[in-house]
Amino acid sequence: MPDRSFLAWPFFDDSHRQLADAISKWARREISGEVGEAVDQQCREFLSSLASGGWLRYVVPKQYGGATESLDVRSVCLIRDTLAYHSGLAEFSFAMQGLGSAPITLFGSEELKRKYLPKVAAGEAIAAFAISEAEAGSDLRAMQTTARRDGDHYVIDGKKNWISNAGIADFYVTYCRFPEAGEKAFVALLVEASAQGITVSERIEVIAPHVLGNVIFHESRVPASALIGREGDGLKIALGTLDIFRASVGAAALGFARRALDEAVCFARERRQFGQALSDFQITQAKFADMAVVVDTSALLVYRAAWTRDVLMQPVTREAAMAKLYATESAQRVIDEAVQILGARGVIAGSITERLYREIRALRIYEGASEIQKLIIAGQVLKAAAAGDEHAR
Ligand SMILES: Cc1cc2nc3c(=O)[nH]c(=O)nc-3n(C[C@H](O)[C@H](O)[C@H](O)COP(=O)(O)OP(=O)(O)OC[C@H]3O[C@@H](n4cnc5c(N)ncnc54)[C@H](O)[C@@H]3O)c2cc1C
Repeated sequence: MPDRSFLAWPFFDDSHRQLADAISKWARREISGEVGEAVDQQCREFLSSLASGGWLRYVVPKQYGGATESLDVRSVCLIRDTLAYHSGLAEFSFAMQGLGSAPITLFGSEELKRKYLPKVAAGEAIAAFAISEAEAGSDLRAMQTTARRDGDHYVIDGKKNWISNAGIADFYVTYCRFPEAGEKAFVALLVEASAQGITVSERIEVIAPHVLGNVIFHESRVPASALIGREGDGLKIALGTLDIFRASVGAAALGFARRALDEAVCFARERRQFGQALSDFQITQAKFADMAVVVDTSALLVYRAAWTRDVLMQPVTREAAMAKLYATESAQRVIDEAVQILGARGVIAGSITERLYREIRALRIYEGASEIQKLIIAGQVLKAAAAGDEHAR
């Protein structure tokens, strides 16, 4: 049973505490961590089950079939934290509905919101977020996928790589550039999977179950109404969405770390060597102390970022980057320590610790790798220092 004492922290109100209890009970009852070969099918099943449980409603505002008035980052984080504790793939299914639809929620027209958000909340439309390309990973401005206006339509050409939900998505929020250069060249378009000229060129297998592939756009036509925000807003939309979702990647890492700590404690209390339980050795206890400090620090950073966004309604570039960086990097260490405590049992294929060991890795890379989070945080530190100088003058 995970430690739930963090729910008493002032970042939450009673509705969050009730949500945390409800999703935890539901996940214990409904989710198995086992994943078979048919990852696409299992992902669809998780989505259907998450929709029946009402959890997908938390990625959409109430007006469009959602659960909360506006996108509530604390709720999204609590759900990701809990789902990750039970299953990386269930967590992924939930997360992508949020990441893929948030550009519509945050920047979309009324028409787009009405058309797509209720379906996202009901699990009737699967969302995807397509920005990465072969030559544009961390360096988003290097993207080469183009959009051009043709009467009442945009025509898209290019290839997006590493796209989660490729092949099962109903729509891709796709970032493109107008052939002319500059910051204002970027645009976000909602492209239905059924639009002409779209093919999923390759499916990619990674070390943990994930629906992932490359998507080619060949003269794909979308109506002008598919524009999210305004022409030129593409990067603002991508970065604004990532600012919110990065804290929730930290929440997923936190769920993995909590599970690793619980597995390690449970094992060490049972396992006897040299005539006593492993948990009676001080070296083991020191490991638990280090792991618990990391878990609580991650939780503080994740829920601080979420609370700052929800309550202070301030930009959270710095807070979200810190939460993602610390929680993902430290979860990797906690999980590794759990494997060590379990000894040989920790690396058995299909065991919970082995699964966590594989599941955590990609979180340090996607939605901005750790090195990029450090650049973001340093940029914020320097900006604050420059503002301090200005103030002192
Ligand atoms: C499982 C998974 C799911 C994904 N899902 C999606 C998705 O749904 N949609 C989508 O658009 N993309 C997705 N991605 C892609 C992901 O966002 C990119 O992998 C990520 O942005 C990093 O890009 P890259 O892999 O090309 O690495 P690169 O940018 O080539 O970086 C390689 C290494 O160099 C480091 N590096 C880069 N720049 C610097 C620098 N200035 N200083 C120091 N170090 C630097 C990086 O941190 C990294 O360690 C997914 C990736 C994975 C693994």
